[in-house]
Amino acid sequence: MARYTGAVCRLCRRENQKLFLKGDRCYSEKCAMVRRSFPPGQHGGNMMRRKTSEYGLQLRAKQKAKRYYGVLESQFAKYYDMAVRRPGITGENLLRLLETRLDNVVYRAGYAMSRKEARQLVLHRHFKVNGQIVNIPSYLLKEGDKVSVKSTDCEKIKESAEKNASRPMPSWMSRDGEKMAVSIDKQPEREDIDFDIEEQLIVELYSK
Ligand code: SF4
Repeated sequence: MARYTGAVCRLCRRENQKLFLKGDRCYSEKCAMVRRSFPPGQHGGNMMRRKTSEYGLQLRAKQKAKRYYGVLESQFAKYYDMAVRRPGITGENLLRLLETRLDNVVYRAGYAMSRKEARQLVLHRHFKVNGQIVNIPSYLLKEGDKVSVKSTDCEKIKESAEKNASRPMPSWMSRDGEKMAVSIDKQPEREDIDFDIEEQLIVELYSK
């Protein structure tokens, strides 16, 4: 499946939840979820009143997670397979895998205004993991890894870091402000992940 190139605010409106796909705009009054918080399309308003089937709920949960983390269908299915093979609760394993992607960590650290921007910055070789440049957005970080900015002269990263300085850092990461670097202190637990989703619905969908 090709990457979605349409209007991203439609995706939030479809999932009826802010997915923070557009950087600055997501925190402003211009956010489409503030101005038009009903599903997109001609009959969007009616859809709010329609009863959703069990399958529909499961599908929406999967689509929401995919869109939130900016992951394609096939990649998402691979994460699910990895989550099943790991010990513990599959749904939590799945979220843990998605959270520890390098592009997500760059976004969570405040070096980018959206996950999409974080992905671009990683692809353009702006970040190092344990001192080595890594340009793979899906690179999975583990406990003890350190992510640093290659050059602190990058205006875009500096600007985002300043704007996001007051944004709380997830409890499983710690920031080294001076060196523009973050460390992964532990693998995130479910309560550390502030994503409003019923991950069990995704597991039910894939286990059919
Ligand atoms: Fe979603 Fe951001 Fe658009 Fe709001 S501005 S609808 S949060 S992408």
